Amino acid sequence: MTTILANHIDGLAVEPRDGIYLDDVDPATGAVHARVPASGPADVDQAVAAGRRAFPGWSATPASERSRILIRIADALETRLEDYVRAESIDSGKPVRLARALDIPRAVANLRFFATAILHTGSDLFETDDRALNYTLRRPRGVAGLISPWNLPLYLFTWKIAPAIATGNTVVAKPSELTPWTAAMLADLTAEQGLPPGVLNVVHGLGASAGAAIVDHPDVPAISFTGGTATGATIARTAGPAFKKLSLELGGKNATVVFADVDLDEVLPGIVRSAFENQGEICLCGSRLFVEAPLYERFVTTFAAAVERLRMGDPLDDATEQGALVSAAHRAKVESYVDLARDLGGEIVTGGRRPDGLPARVSEGFFVEPTVVTGLPVDCRVNMEEIFGPVVTITPFRAEEEAVAWANGTQYGLAASVWTNDLRRAHRVAGALDAGTVWINTWLLRDLRVPFGGMKQSGVGREGGDEALRFFTEPKTVSVALR
Ligand code: NDP
Repeated sequence: MTTILANHIDGLAVEPRDGIYLDDVDPATGAVHARVPASGPADVDQAVAAGRRAFPGWSATPASERSRILIRIADALETRLEDYVRAESIDSGKPVRLARALDIPRAVANLRFFATAILHTGSDLFETDDRALNYTLRRPRGVAGLISPWNLPLYLFTWKIAPAIATGNTVVAKPSELTPWTAAMLADLTAEQGLPPGVLNVVHGLGASAGAAIVDHPDVPAISFTGGTATGATIARTAGPAFKKLSLELGGKNATVVFADVDLDEVLPGIVRSAFENQGEICLCGSRLFVEAPLYERFVTTFAAAVERLRMGDPLDDATEQGALVSAAHRAKVESYVDLARDLGGEIVTGGRRPDGLPARVSEGFFVEPTVVTGLPVDCRVNMEEIFGPVVTITPFRAEEEAVAWANGTQYGLAASVWTNDLRRAHRVAGALDAGTVWINTWLLRDLRVPFGGMKQSGVGREGGDEALRFFTEPKTVSVALR
């Protein structure tokens, strides 16, 4: 049976005004499994109005009560973890084992983290000699517009709604229309768990209509967006002249720098994971591997063999490690880069094709084998443009400076990882890399308290910990004369 999703406005399930729906496709089978509202400006207006009505009450609700409600939502989500794991997998093509290990637990953690963070915040006080005291108040901004992508659907949705709501804002949020299901489920759950109507409003639909209407809305003073760099530029063009507060988490083309001193057996699983977790559809995946020359030949052989052992199959099978790409269109994009790599003279060491022998249930799904390419120039398009799929290149380097220069040689600056046993070099290289996050001998290990975001064209602003609490609140300085 096809599920019909609804917008969630003022605590209620609401049909789109125009009555138009989009197909929500299961990427593993190619079949439509749900229909999602194709909302437009009228739906966004309704949601923003609900957010405005709810704002005075919610922003005045004591932090302890906001915290209590968010923790209750986190607990309820955790109790129903398996329902959300299955829904996330069906909606996005990701393996259930990843949704179970990463996506849904992180969504629970996001809610809990910000629910408790607001209980421990302080404010600055500056004393101007004996003449004045200056202190800072922080107030929620109003109705926050939150737009999130399809790759980590509930993970990134909660990463935005949790700090926004915890700090007393109300929200109009749009998940990607490709993966709307868990956001719709969570909206219902928040109502059940006592979040007052109008605090969280979810409007589904296309970025160009529903998303653009949120960004453009005069009563939405803050926009937090995660998605592609080109979309971020479009949003900035609208939000900039209106002086909206803007947080943009955008694309990446991350480097993985491997020095010859590593114990290859020890680091290999981490490097494979950093390349292909979630089919490479994580903005933080390392897709450009730079390997120190003495290790290069052995690395390519060992890495390719490990990649070939990744189990690709039905995402609902607990054993599956590589699922389907999110859509037919995205698969076509990924395949176009494999073709480009071939045209540019690259060697496809492994992968590059649609897999054979998948179980019958998923034989029409949008699968591409994890693909490893060598022999490409560091400045070619395959190495410069974000593919956002299971395609990586490996390039040998001779000197540390060369690796750093190549790693920094793109328009992006989101993340990087460095693999070495030399402590001094690890810190030196981490300091030299132009990336918002650098991992040393690990990947995707992220404390929720640290600032997260991109340099260069990978974004504007930071999320995480205090950065998110600051983004969603307006500072106001009060200066008191002492004489
Ligand atoms: P998109 O930029 O295409 O879309 C992101 C969201 O924005 C979707 O909900 C989309 O809706 C919406 N949108 C599209 N156009 C507009 C518009 N004009 N106004 C408002 N909203 C709009 O990204 P993808 O969904 O394809 O996600 C992949 C991208 O996200 C990659 O580039 C990846 O690197 C980046 N990303 C960055 C992360 C980070 O933290 N830096 C984390 C995860 C992903 P619709 O789906 O209808 O287009």
